[in-house]
Amino acid sequence: MESQWGDGMKDDLSLMGTVLRIERTSIHDGAGLRTVLFLKGCPLQCSWCSTPESQCRAPEKGYDAGRCMGCGRCVASCPAGALHLSSEVSKVSKVSVDQTKCSRCFLCVVKCPHRAWKQYGSIMTVEEVIKEISKDEIFFFHSGGGVTVSGGEALSQVDFTAAVLRACGRRGIPAALETSCYAPWGEMEKILPFLQNLYVDLKLMDRDLHQQWVGVDNSLILDNIRRIDQSSHPVEIMVRIPLIPGLNDSDDNLAATGAFCRSLKKLKGIEILPYHRLGKETYSHLGRDYAFKKLLPPSPAWILERAGFLAGQKPGVPVYVNGNEVA
Ligand code: SF4
Ligand code: SF4
Repeated sequence: MESQWGDGMKDDLSLMGTVLRIERTSIHDGAGLRTVLFLKGCPLQCSWCSTPESQCRAPEKGYDAGRCMGCGRCVASCPAGALHLSSEVSKVSKVSVDQTKCSRCFLCVVKCPHRAWKQYGSIMTVEEVIKEISKDEIFFFHSGGGVTVSGGEALSQVDFTAAVLRACGRRGIPAALETSCYAPWGEMEKILPFLQNLYVDLKLMDRDLHQQWVGVDNSLILDNIRRIDQSSHPVEIMVRIPLIPGLNDSDDNLAATGAFCRSLKKLKGIEILPYHRLGKETYSHLGRDYAFKKLLPPSPAWILERAGFLAGQKPGVPVYVNGNEVA
């Protein structure tokens, strides 16, 4: 019988995916020291998203006008004629880009001496990813850690994600996935056999509000979580809630979240992820508007009060804020 690692299957190390970045020695995304593989592409449009550079599947570039000295090197090197210098905005000339002409060669990123251009994402094979991950095996061994695949939404590149997880399994590297669970069930089934831990975002329990703020309704997400919970896969679930003031912090939403969590047998805990604005500059570099730019991060006291309310709903598992269990 074929094992869960697909022994005997055609090796898929040559599969290509779009990787946003690989972060090492994380202590927030699973047991022990984690190497986190962030993939690009996401079918959701969370209004508060703090990583807008992860949303688009293709590699893209950002421009930091504050760093630009107007030297014109990027303009001269662009083979597509997509860049232009303009002196209308300030004394130092700034660069404008015609996205319809840009071929995403990223020569502008390479040529800028002031690092005003930044590339978000690159195409990698599974083999290249595994080569990077394998450098950290000694840390996994000594800390009980492993790999966590995150996004964007890793399920938007499900075959690439499954191939990475399968290759990790063959090497004995424990694997976790951070996901919205917004994918057809058949795609969820492709990756579940390779996982020990699943981190699931639970943003809003009301279907219409979810549609309004996330761009899709939540029925597929909630169905998938229930199916995983009832499946034979021995995966442990951790629910993550991005706590956004005025959006999902109401008593009603937290009570509904607590009730849903109470129904899950495989749930090990709930993590509160307080709203922050660390992605604000990136929106500007990508030339995009940030819908929540006026919303201030909440106070620690407010976060603890709301987390305490959720814990008071008796969800059946501990509630954590910044790694600390809420009493
Ligand atoms: S990525 Fe290439 S084509 Fe696009 S603006 Fe930069 S140099 Fe020009
Ligand atoms: S190369 Fe860099 S500093 Fe020079 S104009 Fe282009 S972005 Fe500005």
